[in-house]
Amino acid sequence: MFEIHTLDLKLRGSSNALAAHVIKTEQGSILVDCGPESTLQNLYAELERVDAQNLKYLLLTHIHLDHAGAAGRLSTDLGLTVFVHARGAKHLQDPTRLLASAKQIFGDRMTEIWGNIEPVSNLEVLNGGEKLELCALEIEALYTPGHAVHHLAFQQGDIVFAGDVAGVRVGNQAPVPPTPPPDINLEHWRTSIELLKSRAAKTLYLAHFGRFDDVSEHFERLSENLERFAQISLAGLQAEETADEIAARLRNATGLQASDEFVGGYVPASISASDVAGLERYWQKFHPELL
Ligand SMILES: [Zn+2]
Repeated sequence: MFEIHTLDLKLRGSSNALAAHVIKTEQGSILVDCGPESTLQNLYAELERVDAQNLKYLLLTHIHLDHAGAAGRLSTDLGLTVFVHARGAKHLQDPTRLLASAKQIFGDRMTEIWGNIEPVSNLEVLNGGEKLELCALEIEALYTPGHAVHHLAFQQGDIVFAGDVAGVRVGNQAPVPPTPPPDINLEHWRTSIELLKSRAAKTLYLAHFGRFDDVSEHFERLSENLERFAQISLAGLQAEETADEIAARLRNATGLQASDEFVGGYVPASISASDVAGLERYWQKFHPELL
């Protein structure tokens, strides 16, 4: 017997933008992603609200700060065992590079937005394909690159915790792929969507945001939007449009409005110039002849 709860981390006061998830069992609780250190108190309040006791494990879909920034604090404060993909592990053990690249984007507001980043102890390294036995549940790690080269999804029965590779979807909007730098790879992303579709899940949990039960329609619409992102970003870059112009085209094509909750370069559940920067890097790195 287990229960799953979506925990709203309310990053800088925004509801329905960033979530962690908890699986409660009689043997203890498992967190899937934990959010940044700046929202740690909100995480604790949410865990208390759903009465999640005896937190034992933290499964990280990837190491971006909105998903994993608090992992160091949680590993020291609560002694959690933290699971992460091999290609993200060294940046959690020594967050120097993670901090440097976040500082490039967020500058002086880095700590205000994300809080502190501490090294993670108690790391368990995964490659995808592992079947973990945690709190008497079998949870499979699925290697799902595309959004990040070290991205994992986690499957328990017919439930998948999909991180960011299954897109950002809030309420009735269609899912859109978040494409920030540095390691967007559209070929890998398509392969990961095919892998997730093949797992025949009935329920998806997304960090942005929450539970969705129309899984095949979800992936269909996500794939459509991924191809729109590919076409629009390539055409825009070829025409030498600015990142803001291309981002506006992407929002138009996907029906997303610009969010007024812009947070120092981080736009929850919207599309910004940073998504264009991630796509531009992809085209330059893998298909420079097209530019
Ligand atoms: Zn994210």
